[in-house]
Amino acid sequence: MTKFLKSSLAILISASIFLSGCSGSPQDSKADQNQNQDKNVTAVEPSVTQPNIDLSKVTPNENGKIMVVMFHNFVSSFTPSKYDDGQYTTTFNDFRKLLQALYDKGYRLISLNDLLNNNILVPAGCIPMVFTFDDGTPGQFNLVPDGEKLVANKESAVGIMEEFNKTHPDFGLEGTFFVNLGLKVFDGDGTVPERLKYLIDEGFEIGNHTMTHIHLNEARSAGEIQKEIGGEQKRMYELIPDYKIFAFSLPFGQPSKDLQEFVIKGNYQGVQYQNSAIMEVGWDPTVSPVSKKFNPLSIHRVRATGIKPVQADLDWWLQNLSRNEQYISDGNPDTVTIPKGKEADIDNNRLNGKKLVVY
Ligand SMILES: [Zn+2]
Repeated sequence: MTKFLKSSLAILISASIFLSGCSGSPQDSKADQNQNQDKNVTAVEPSVTQPNIDLSKVTPNENGKIMVVMFHNFVSSFTPSKYDDGQYTTTFNDFRKLLQALYDKGYRLISLNDLLNNNILVPAGCIPMVFTFDDGTPGQFNLVPDGEKLVANKESAVGIMEEFNKTHPDFGLEGTFFVNLGLKVFDGDGTVPERLKYLIDEGFEIGNHTMTHIHLNEARSAGEIQKEIGGEQKRMYELIPDYKIFAFSLPFGQPSKDLQEFVIKGNYQGVQYQNSAIMEVGWDPTVSPVSKKFNPLSIHRVRATGIKPVQADLDWWLQNLSRNEQYISDGNPDTVTIPKGKEADIDNNRLNGKKLVVY
């Protein structure tokens, strides 16, 4: 019986690897490159990764869809009430299970900045995914003392991702936190600059979500919008000098009716700001950054599955989005590989110096 279970498990595991067709670690190839560079006294061109992949097996599709996941609250346990059924709340345990499930399905995290710049470095056969977190809630991240230092609470999304990263370093430790610097930001130990710096040092990104989470559609003037969005950049420079915010997430998912140009860029008290990416409150995956349909000023997101699952949340998409509709990496950072017949969908200006490969 035990033998039978073991062999069944082995078959299941190899089947899932075969299905996802995703293995290897980008860290490994980076380490190889560094070693090669160390051996040379003079600087060398970074070696180009040219993985030998069987296109018919891996079936890369770098024009496929990518899920940009939107998280809000994280808690240890949750009791639904008539005011809050938990649609925007995830438990720590469910988040732990989610990371493992995503990893097993072949998803690997990339940063929002890398999505925007078509700089997607995940192994062949893997599917890139972006994590975003709105509102700066303490369940996403808070600092706790550990001896002399301050570290991420293990009962927070960041703490859980750090733990997962120890055993699955190739999953990626990436995410963008859209905060309101005029409100509470990751309540816990440490100062606000200490909290932000911890995230930035770990490679996470900080995004703009307005100073006080306003309804943009109710803002009456350009001045009001610039105070909320430019004020956030100004405050960021005071907290973390030189940190330029490049992405904005719409509070309540509401765009401005007539003053959209000031959501994109403007000036507040002498501080310039510019948002190259604007995140919607989501319902579906985004198109690939090389697609003609890609609009960085309206990036669609998929909401994380909460205590109460809803249609078009992450679990729903994981069941309803087929593998061949998704972005499947060719593993080569220098090429964009797509199946034959999809050439007309590609915006050549967005290839960013990469070679288009059609098979
Ligand atoms: Zn929000």
